Amino acid sequence: MKRLIILLLIFSCSSDKSVQPEVCDNNYNPPFGGTIFIDPDIITSDDPTTFISLSYAGTGTRQMYDRRSGWVTLEPFLFPAEYDDGLTIEIQVNPEFGSKENAEIYALKYADVIGRLTTELRKDVETSWIHRGEEPFGGGNNNLLIHTDWSEKHYENQGILEETLVHEAAHTSLDSYHAESNGWLDAQIKDCGFISDYARDNPIREDIAESYLPYLAIRYRSDRISESLKKKIEDAIPNRIKYFDEQNFNMYPIQ
Ligand SMILES: [Zn+2]
Repeated sequence: MKRLIILLLIFSCSSDKSVQPEVCDNNYNPPFGGTIFIDPDIITSDDPTTFISLSYAGTGTRQMYDRRSGWVTLEPFLFPAEYDDGLTIEIQVNPEFGSKENAEIYALKYADVIGRLTTELRKDVETSWIHRGEEPFGGGNNNLLIHTDWSEKHYENQGILEETLVHEAAHTSLDSYHAESNGWLDAQIKDCGFISDYARDNPIREDIAESYLPYLAIRYRSDRISESLKKKIEDAIPNRIKYFDEQNFNMYPIQ
């Protein structure tokens, strides 16, 4: 139970969910281990994409991060991807894919999926690195890091490819503005807890990314998720939800 019973009695009649309990329940546990797994239908492959087209720009020297080996300097295949809100992303495909034709298959696939993310989530994404390998995705570095073997075996099997990219793009385009803002840190304190174990264990690095997908689910996809899932999210992070509401994020093409 999140709040002490006495506080529930005091505040149960209040319609303002952002009220701060005076004492946090130290035995509180987050409702989820991690949030990319909460529901596979928040964004699906049937949803609209902002992706317009891909061109081929040859190969070029680029510094890339690869979870199998760290920072590496390679000559990736380069595919600038255009989106209908004016954003572009240079997709850099590891030379290990062998040919321009093979690299293009993966560049196209992920350019399209990334286009289902909102303008807000793509605004600072300048590049995407595509590697083989059984390693998780990553965000930050003005980039989205993709490992295709892990993508196929885990995210795509579970239907959470788009959901995972929402999490990673939140690192890239939201963290630097919000993760340590006064409003966010204040919301963390007022909520008396975290949405997931992963956020609790990494409160600066993961809290925005872990909280944002559940927020997107309750605000823009409430028709696709269960009432109980919605309630779990609303009960866990009411002040963070309020914080996100106040940001006026550009939600195109989701809304
Ligand atoms: Zn993360």
